[in-house]
Amino acid sequence: MGLKDYLYDIWEAVATTAKGMRITARYGVDPRETITLQYPEERWEPSERFRGFLYNDIKTCTSCTMCVRVCPVDCISLESVRGADKKMVLASYDIDIGRCMYCGLCVEVCPPKSLKHTSGYEKASVDRGELILHFIHEDAGEIKARVAKQVAEAAAKAEAEKAKAESEKPEAEMAKDGDPDSRAAQKDAPPPAGGNPEGGGAAEKKPGEEKE
Ligand code: SF4
Ligand code: SF4
Repeated sequence: MGLKDYLYDIWEAVATTAKGMRITARYGVDPRETITLQYPEERWEPSERFRGFLYNDIKTCTSCTMCVRVCPVDCISLESVRGADKKMVLASYDIDIGRCMYCGLCVEVCPPKSLKHTSGYEKASVDRGELILHFIHEDAGEIKARVAKQVAEAAAKAEAEKAKAESEKPEAEMAKDGDPDSRAAQKDAPPPAGGNPEGGGAAEKKPGEEKE
C-alpha cells in the first residue's frame, strides 16, 4: 500500500464517521425523529396479517384433528369423545406456544375457521409449562365421564322407546285389521266354488281347459 492509498483510507474513515454523526445528531435534536418506543407503556401495532399467538374458538371447533395432523412440530394436542347426538365433544385442546413456529398451517387447514392467529406476542416465563395454552379449563376426565353418562342415558331412552313401540304394535295392527274373531272365521270358511280362496279372482284353470 502506497502513501496515497494510506492517506485516502484515513480521509474515508473521517468522512464516513462525520456522515454517521450528522445523522445521529439530527435524531438527537429533532423531536419528530424520535424512534425509541417507551415499551411497555407504548407498543407497536402489529400489521393485519401478523401471525401472533393462536386462539381456538372451541364452540366452533369440530374436533376434526386436521390442525393436529398438519402441525410440523406437534405442538397441538386435543382429546374428544363422541356425544349422544353423534357429534364429537372436545375434552381438551392445548397449544404449546413455546414450540409453535407460527407457520400458520393449522389456521389454513381448519375447516370451520375456528383457529386464528391473534396479535399477541408477549409471554415471558421461566416455566415452560406456562407456555401451553389450555382452551378448555374443565378436567378432560370429567368431560369424558359426563359425555359417557349422557350417551348411556340416551341409549337407555332409545331402548325403552323401542320396547314400548314393540309392545304397542299388535294392538295397533288389531285395530287396523278389525275384530280378530271375525278374521279367524273368515280364514276357516271354505273357498267359493270355482274361485280362489280370496274370492273375486279368476277361477283356477286346469291344464286341459286352456283352449276352450
Ligand atoms: S402455527 Fe404452525 S407450528 Fe404453530 S401450531 Fe400451527 S401448524 Fe403448528
Ligand atoms: S382444524 Fe379447526 S376444527 Fe379441526 S380440530 Fe383443529 S381447530 Fe378444531
